[in-house]
Amino acid sequence: MTEFTGKPICKGASTGRIRVFKSKVDDTKLISISDTDAELKRYEKAFDSAKEKLEKLYDIAREKHMPNADILSAQVMLLTDEGYNNTVRDEIKNNRVNAEYAVKLSCEKYVKIFENIEDETVKTKADDVRDISYRLINILGGEESDIIFGNERMVIMADAAEPSLLIESGKEHIAGVITKNTGIGSHIVILARDMDIPVVTGIPADISLDGKECIIDGYKGLVITDPDEKTLNKYENIISDLKEQTRNLHKLIGLPTQTRSGRTVKIYANVSGLDDAEKALQNGAEGIGLFRSEYLFLGRNECPGEEEQFEAYKAVLEAYGDKQVTIRTVDLGADKGARYLNLQSEPNPDLGCRGIRICLKTPDILKTQLRALYRASVYGNLAIMYPMITSVWEVKKLREISAEVREELKSSGLDIGDVPEGILIETPAAALISDELAKYGDFFSIGTNDLTQYALGADRQNDDVTDYYDPRHPAVLSLIKTVIENGHKNKIPVGMCGELAADETMTEHLVHLGIDILSVSQGEILSLRKSIREMR
Ligand code: PEP
Ligand code: MG
Repeated sequence: MTEFTGKPICKGASTGRIRVFKSKVDDTKLISISDTDAELKRYEKAFDSAKEKLEKLYDIAREKHMPNADILSAQVMLLTDEGYNNTVRDEIKNNRVNAEYAVKLSCEKYVKIFENIEDETVKTKADDVRDISYRLINILGGEESDIIFGNERMVIMADAAEPSLLIESGKEHIAGVITKNTGIGSHIVILARDMDIPVVTGIPADISLDGKECIIDGYKGLVITDPDEKTLNKYENIISDLKEQTRNLHKLIGLPTQTRSGRTVKIYANVSGLDDAEKALQNGAEGIGLFRSEYLFLGRNECPGEEEQFEAYKAVLEAYGDKQVTIRTVDLGADKGARYLNLQSEPNPDLGCRGIRICLKTPDILKTQLRALYRASVYGNLAIMYPMITSVWEVKKLREISAEVREELKSSGLDIGDVPEGILIETPAAALISDELAKYGDFFSIGTNDLTQYALGADRQNDDVTDYYDPRHPAVLSLIKTVIENGHKNKIPVGMCGELAADETMTEHLVHLGIDILSVSQGEILSLRKSIREMR
């Protein structure tokens, strides 16, 4: 049994097997070999094993409609590509290099080829080449674990973990996440919270831990590998106590969220897909305050089309009936990069092309999404929300585009519901001009995650500046107050969907400022309701 101490950044405790995601392709060393036949055999064996595993993974992903199925099928094709394989074999035969190094050379050759192709979709194949090469090198080094996604719950260990890693791995199979340096406001932490998955940071990825049984403790920031029976029992008790606490909170389902003095606040949920949305309903959500639609766009090789989006939105709207479902238009960029978009690498991605900026640059993505949203609007109570707004002209432009889409749909005879269009206030600029913005938006929701990072100049993803990244800083609170006052002055409701909404030490303050809606992860709804019901 070995104990590793990191930092807790997402609560919870669970057990699973560690799966290390670490790029080894670049570290591969050249070794000259004398017996080329034996080396070729070693490669063929690794190739067969990689192919078998990828095909198995693909079958599971397809059966379970997991979003990584497309990627896995593309990888099987690349792995069996003659050109790729012949390059590896030729290197071993003609240049007497070890199989690992031959794979690295073939990888570099094909990455270059794909990266030089103009077609944006083909370019993404470079990532798949890296992935299959990584898999082959791991098998050659005897390090590939037997873990097959879908069979066992895994604890992801990766130095730099992005939300797409959780999406591609299939959410329901993940028991926890261990990273080297992740800020408290990172999307991977938020996504993990939505999924009830503990996250510990401050522990570098170590390939020798791949496949080990572990306990991950997101309260204390501990990872315990090969736990002994006594420790396992202790954690089983902790996990069952947590379940008991959850059962107690369930008594509050269906009760109003009202202070003792009669002030009512709505509690909505932040979700990343239908699964969370359904869980949120079971946990008493009164609506959805933030549907992060970009998760439909991650972990795949191309943008989801109109039909696929329509079905996804319709399903959530139908599940929620009369309850409001606020769907944010796609907020890609920064730590949510979709590889098919081939975004330029930027020196400062959080200040670059992200959120609505990508949509205004490539309006087809937005128009397709709006068509799907408006078509789905008749199935429930939809609201649309625009992220990363800094100026009035952006909102005017967005409303022009949405009016165009509505006209097109109406003229083709389609019904459209009455859909409010709101603004996510997550930049200091938007907060400061909120009096003016309120004239162009039907509601505000305050996104404290970005608002904090931009107001305080502290990267939400970087654990080294966590002490500076403080959503309770007086500057952030003053911006929040301004937004609530300006929203109410202009008679529009003001909610909050950043993580501060779930900070119970701030609930009283927010309620007294007049916040109308608090939107939080599904696991936080009932505890927040309890706090508000206990308030004077
Ligand atoms: C926010 O910035 O507070 C927000 C709700 O959006 P996200 O966390 O997805 O950036
Ligand atoms: Mg944001």
